[in-house]
Amino acid sequence: MALKRTKIVDIFSPELVGEQVCVKGWVRTRRGNKHVQFIALNDGSTIKNLQIVIDLEKFSDEELKPITTGSSLHVEGTLVASQGKGQTVEVQAQTIEVYGTADPDEYPLQKKGHTLEFLREKAHLRMRTNTFGAVFRIRHHLAFAIHKFFNDKGFFYMHTPLITASDCEGAGDMFQVTTLNLADLPKNEDGTNDYTKDFFGKPTSLTVSGQLEGELGATALGAIYTFGPTFRAENSNTPRHLAEFWMIEPEVAFNDITDNMDLAEEFIKYCVQYALDHCQDDIEFLNNMYDNSLLDRLHSVLKEDFVRLTYTEGIKILEASGKKFEFPVSWGVDLQSEHERYLVEEHFKRPVILTDYPREIKAFYMKQNDDGKTVRAMDVLFPQIGEIIGGSEREENYDKLIGEIERRGIPMKDMWWYLETRKFGTVPHAGFGLGFERLILFVTGMANIRDVIPFPRTPNNAEF
Ligand code: ATP
Ligand code: MN
Repeated sequence: MALKRTKIVDIFSPELVGEQVCVKGWVRTRRGNKHVQFIALNDGSTIKNLQIVIDLEKFSDEELKPITTGSSLHVEGTLVASQGKGQTVEVQAQTIEVYGTADPDEYPLQKKGHTLEFLREKAHLRMRTNTFGAVFRIRHHLAFAIHKFFNDKGFFYMHTPLITASDCEGAGDMFQVTTLNLADLPKNEDGTNDYTKDFFGKPTSLTVSGQLEGELGATALGAIYTFGPTFRAENSNTPRHLAEFWMIEPEVAFNDITDNMDLAEEFIKYCVQYALDHCQDDIEFLNNMYDNSLLDRLHSVLKEDFVRLTYTEGIKILEASGKKFEFPVSWGVDLQSEHERYLVEEHFKRPVILTDYPREIKAFYMKQNDDGKTVRAMDVLFPQIGEIIGGSEREENYDKLIGEIERRGIPMKDMWWYLETRKFGTVPHAGFGLGFERLILFVTGMANIRDVIPFPRTPNNAEF
């Protein structure tokens, strides 16, 4: 009977020592001398490699020649306690089958120590490196943690559409979806495009957020969260923006802005703790390789209460800082990452939740404060990242909401279904959006958002 495969993550257990094992994976390195060769085998289940020991008396040159970095193997042998440094067990090979070779002259990961920029050009293979293996295992665990957090709290996971006909959240920044022939567009008499001939009979785009539909869910199921891809055609080539990113958007009936802040803080801390509990090897690797303050930063976020203050107070601190910012600050401006990071990294030295932003720089659906100038918005600002969460208490008053929509000239006919939440059984409610990749940036310490999603979509980049 064929021996069952053991994943490398499961092999470092004392009970298996002395047993016959079967392992499969990709060769990371091969070294040795005339008598014995050592292969470092990795199967992606853990950052740890398994050492395969080859006694050259048992294998011919012919058999061993195709075993080079990147080739894939099926190895059977005895698991023994290791004398060598850096590992507790190793396999003494009895049989080796090569599934696939990787020509050393062609395999892009033949050498170690490639830059992250180089590896971005090799996104189809970079998951085979220690760094990206670590990042994408952490990404998985964080996704799982998010579902667990909300499920344990009784939130319902809601799937909101990716194709939308509402463009109220930011028309210019959306990717249009069409089946019309762009080389021969059907026209109305006045020369505009005739979208009645399009697939949905009207113009449609990829969603920038699931929030509006999420509010429909929250005002029925009580507490929901979405977790899915969102798309923004903003041409911002920064280390923190993607054209396609994943967003988590909880929305809760009867929550006010304080409940919303409490939820956001508990949620992020839960995710960070979960990653520390389940991704220890990977986080330690990233801490040692890239950023040796990563672990300290993760632990410090866990133990500190997030500072809560209003935008207006934040502006006062920034103005009094005496710092020369690239973008000058005054009441009414939208905060740039440099301002957010000053508050978090230099002034308070812990995460900050800024609330009550000027109405003019925030979305139409946010609850208006009595001062007539500000809305009940909240942004969570993080070290190294800047804004990680944006959210608000929502305007639940029908007349105030309509007033704001009209004042901004948002096309009403597209919004009738959203407005009915305020017409029929309206309730106070609140929610927020967490950018999944920004959370992963924080937890991994990676500096560029292109390095925490397997196949990044950014301007001029959709190769893989
Ligand atoms: P920013 O000011 O950083 O561009 P935003 O205010 O436009 O962000 P929101 O509309 O509030 O973002 O979206 C909620 C969250 O989604 C943000 O707090 C952030 O974590 C994330 N996010 C927004 N835009 C992007 C993007 N282009 N790429 C990756 N994550 C993003
Ligand atoms: Mn925002």
